[in-house]
Amino acid sequence: MSEQASPPALQVAGLTRSYGRKQVVRDLDLRVEPGDIYGFLGPNGAGKTTTMRMILGLIRSDSGTVSIFGESDPVAARRHLGGIVESPRFYPYLSGRDNLRVLAAYGPPVAPSRIDELLSLVSLGDRGRDQVKTYSLGMKQRLGIAQALLTSPKLLMLDEPVNGLDPAGMKQVRDLIRTLRDEEGLTVFVSSHLLRDVEALCDRIGIIQDGRKIIEGRTAELVEDGETLEDAFLRHTAPAAGGQIR
Ligand code: ATP
Repeated sequence: MSEQASPPALQVAGLTRSYGRKQVVRDLDLRVEPGDIYGFLGPNGAGKTTTMRMILGLIRSDSGTVSIFGESDPVAARRHLGGIVESPRFYPYLSGRDNLRVLAAYGPPVAPSRIDELLSLVSLGDRGRDQVKTYSLGMKQRLGIAQALLTSPKLLMLDEPVNGLDPAGMKQVRDLIRTLRDEEGLTVFVSSHLLRDVEALCDRIGIIQDGRKIIEGRTAELVEDGETLEDAFLRHTAPAAGGQIR
């Protein structure tokens, strides 16, 4: 009997979405392999957040399919999935730990020990009992990642997770993403405009523009000799169509 190849962590096929008359995601195909840190790139307004919201089931697609670890039934597929696409919101007067306990109560049961485990995983072990209103932006972002991990997903989607963070905060989130992949075995799908970060962090990359995929592949293969990822990004995204980097 031939061995069956393991299914992709995420397979998106023909995903399409319009707002009014404007098609903002057009017939999009993406493929993320298990264990990838996948960088999802594109100029402002390219359709990245809209795509991630569809994958997470927060908005509907007009057409297309999303399959996660081989599951295409939306309920079954999303059991494997966690993510944050907006700045996470917390109760400011509750501790980080109590916020996670409250959020955990909305889903399947989570052991209290898991909450402490998650707090220490996101380097908030020593601040978990402090009120969230005393947290820095970076700490709130990491608490948001802990929240996304409450259901023990296999695929984690993060929309611009380092946006607005200072260099130390960015490094902590970058290191956390690596730890999640290397030590927790997660597949991570991350959108960002910080191309130097993406180049250092992501094994594979997909670039979209005007809702369409321009290119997808291994980071090392998309970047030509002597080029940076920023050079490659600018080469692939036409300035006339708004190919700018924030
Ligand atoms: P950025 O890098 O700036 O965050 P993005 O690639 O995430 O951009 P989206 O936020 O997905 O892009 O937006 C894609 C297009 O869809 C944009 O033209 C945006 O104005 C439009 N759009 C997004 N959300 C809505 C909405 N709720 N109603 C109408 N248009 C929307």
